[in-house]
Amino acid sequence: MPVVQLSNVTKTYPPRPSGERPLVAIDDVSLEIEQGDIYGIIGYSGAGKSTLVRLINALESTSDGSIIVGGRELTGLRERQLREVRLGIGMIFQQFNLFTSRTVWGNIAYPLRVAGVPKEQHQKRISELLHFVGLADKAHSYPDQLSGGQKQRVGIARALATSPSILLADEATSALDPETTREVLALLKRVNEEFGVTIVLITHEMEVIKSIAHKVAVMEAGRIIERGSVFDVFSSPRERATQRFVSTVVKAVPDDAEFQVLRSKHPGRIVTVSFSDGSVSQSSVFLEFGRHGIGFELIYGGINDIQGRTFGHLTLALTGESGSVDAALDAIRPVVTVTEVD
Ligand code: ADP
Repeated sequence: MPVVQLSNVTKTYPPRPSGERPLVAIDDVSLEIEQGDIYGIIGYSGAGKSTLVRLINALESTSDGSIIVGGRELTGLRERQLREVRLGIGMIFQQFNLFTSRTVWGNIAYPLRVAGVPKEQHQKRISELLHFVGLADKAHSYPDQLSGGQKQRVGIARALATSPSILLADEATSALDPETTREVLALLKRVNEEFGVTIVLITHEMEVIKSIAHKVAVMEAGRIIERGSVFDVFSSPRERATQRFVSTVVKAVPDDAEFQVLRSKHPGRIVTVSFSDGSVSQSSVFLEFGRHGIGFELIYGGINDIQGRTFGHLTLALTGESGSVDAALDAIRPVVTVTEVD
């Protein structure tokens, strides 16, 4: 049973005074997130990601369709029951949303108080959380005295205080520099692995998905246009928007304009050799070229590593007698995908 299940969910907002039609923010979305997943949801601004988050954490209701969170259908629940559902969901935000007038300790104590956890249990829980996020020495600091990365670690500790089974991270690293982003993502990975917390990662940055997500869904105009394991989507994206996202982090195939530049420098035959995880070692491809007396120069692309699995697109300028090139390409076709553009 998935921990989050959306079935044909639509969310429509009433028309703005200036607009003539209602705005469809989420359009017939079905999605299953399994216990223990790190599920990335990526899309450009306005794609519907934040609306999706507000639906999952029961801050808004659907216009149509059903949402089941932790085994409970949200539609029709009363406010008191919705609050119970929300207690099982932690949230972290781009701007951290900490109380600036409370210490780190006070910020983490807040959800415990709201959830009615007896005061004598606070000390142990907060101390555990502070150690987990590496801020044991900052208990009495105020948010303004902390760096962005430290603030987000407090955000994570606060979100975990009541031991939720789901953590929603809404652009949680978008305000952080790359180094701090890496630290916060590594912490989220530990949250997932050590506590089994299911994480839903909302982002517009493919790097975030690439580094820790197991699965990814790509949103555009309120719909999920592509989804799958991170490796599959990154190694063979189908939709244009997905290809654009993937191209931000993957060394891929040259586009038309890039190809024209390569062509002007390399008048001979140009091929792209694509291979996926375990299908072949590159050296066997190069050996085959050697065996047929073909020269080659790597002119575009490279090898990508997604969480320990590799795939690559190598664009090569080949030199040699045309029949030998054909024979070499035929020899490698069983193990790699060969694309030749004129
Ligand atoms: P994202 O998080 O991917 O940037 P959002 O979920 O914020 O996208 O927005 C999706 C669409 O829904 C946008 O066109 C946005 O203007 C609209 N929208 C979001 N919230 C509201 C609201 N409360 N009222 C009206 N329109 C909204």
